[in-house]
Amino acid sequence: MQKSITMLLVLCTCVLSLSAQKTKKDVLKSLDWKSESYGEISQEIWNLAEMGYQEEKSSALLQQTLEDAGFTIKKGVAGIPTAFIAEFGSGSPIVAIMGEYDALPGLSQEAIAEKQSAGGAAGHACGHHLFGTASTAAAIATKDWMVANNKQGTIRFYGTPAEEGGSGKVYMVRAGLFNDVDIALHWHPGAQNAANAGAALANKSAKFRFHGFSAHAAAAPEQGRSALDGVEAMDMMVNMMREHIPSDARIHYVITSGGKAPNVVPDFAEVYYYARHAKRDVVIDIFDRIVKAAEGAAMGTGTTMDYEMIGGTHELLPNLTLQKVMFDNLTEVGGFDYTQEEKEFADKIAKSLGKEKADISIAKNIQPYKTEAKPGGSTDVGDVSFTVPTVGMSAATWVPGTPAHSWQAVAAGGTSIGKKGMMVAAKALTLTAIDIFSDKKLVESAKTEFKEKRGADFKYIPLLGDREPALDYRN
Ligand SMILES: [Zn+2]
Repeated sequence: MQKSITMLLVLCTCVLSLSAQKTKKDVLKSLDWKSESYGEISQEIWNLAEMGYQEEKSSALLQQTLEDAGFTIKKGVAGIPTAFIAEFGSGSPIVAIMGEYDALPGLSQEAIAEKQSAGGAAGHACGHHLFGTASTAAAIATKDWMVANNKQGTIRFYGTPAEEGGSGKVYMVRAGLFNDVDIALHWHPGAQNAANAGAALANKSAKFRFHGFSAHAAAAPEQGRSALDGVEAMDMMVNMMREHIPSDARIHYVITSGGKAPNVVPDFAEVYYYARHAKRDVVIDIFDRIVKAAEGAAMGTGTTMDYEMIGGTHELLPNLTLQKVMFDNLTEVGGFDYTQEEKEFADKIAKSLGKEKADISIAKNIQPYKTEAKPGGSTDVGDVSFTVPTVGMSAATWVPGTPAHSWQAVAAGGTSIGKKGMMVAAKALTLTAIDIFSDKKLVESAKTEFKEKRGADFKYIPLLGDREPALDYRN
């Protein structure tokens, strides 16, 4: 008896909450009700701060949340243990919402306004704990709206690991997991609310490994061949090459292994390179020249060299048809106010960034609509955007003026500021998904624009080639 009453209660609450989500307004309200519980989920992922391809607990938490909401989970997709797809519904249209959850090495930080490590190996300096959680919230809210309105179609959440350097989505695209998708949605944490046509640099990265012979550096140097010489010769040639590449290209490297002791000629050395440009053809060309420099360096130093592709991503293909819809929805949702406590936190963060005060009106407002953007970083969303019409936005999860990948970004992401910003994104994504499910013509025009922009002879060639996912790249 007790059990059946409980069941009845559960059923009633379900029916009530579903009937309460018939309109966009109801959906926004229901997201407000749930904002605390989503805040807790994001906080847990922030605490875990798991790095690329190691996001086992973060991925499991989001899977559980989606499963509890009635989604069917396919885990370990594309040969990646922490990648998954959660699906609800059937037939078309198929709308995908992407979510990330990887943290960045070396950026552990407490949720306070001064630089202080939380003692971990990594930190959420790109806000991906908010990214994954808000996208989960949007997928569930969209599903609830579909049920309440008896809508045909499929809503999917794509759990996409290792965005930071691991190119997780590229393997998922390569495995064909996006092939039947009609529209893909994403967002990114940031220092402002915006839904502009994005831009990203295409990127190729690799680890170059040199092998020489060890010898006593003073007693028998002639018997040694220094692998570090190979790295240094390569770096010198690449640095000279900078004069002879397009000036808006980017090349950066770190020496990840350079020997252990000066009196031992190093028999192993490794350097990790990125090459980036707004056009992937330029990246491919520059990368090939970097490989030549490595080969020449090995030849000249009497060492051998091999390299491992680590990442490779396309530039971003914007879709203005969808972008305008996303912008209108973001405008409808609007930004948020800071409490007194948040203001004090924000001013301290602003001071640490060399500013007098934080301009918190930025979090309240939406940036004016722009159809063009200057690319800064890279994202594996690029490959998705060349596979299916894709649209994104950013929300003010950080104190205005905060750069990504900073301790200030980690700190704000662990406070109520991050959580408020995250819900702006969850709402705007949900409203956009609802528009897509409600308007067949919108899907068609987005696809027409997509095909025109991508070009008739486009063939998808992953920039990282045929390598298996670099599951150990953060080890
Ligand atoms: Zn990011």
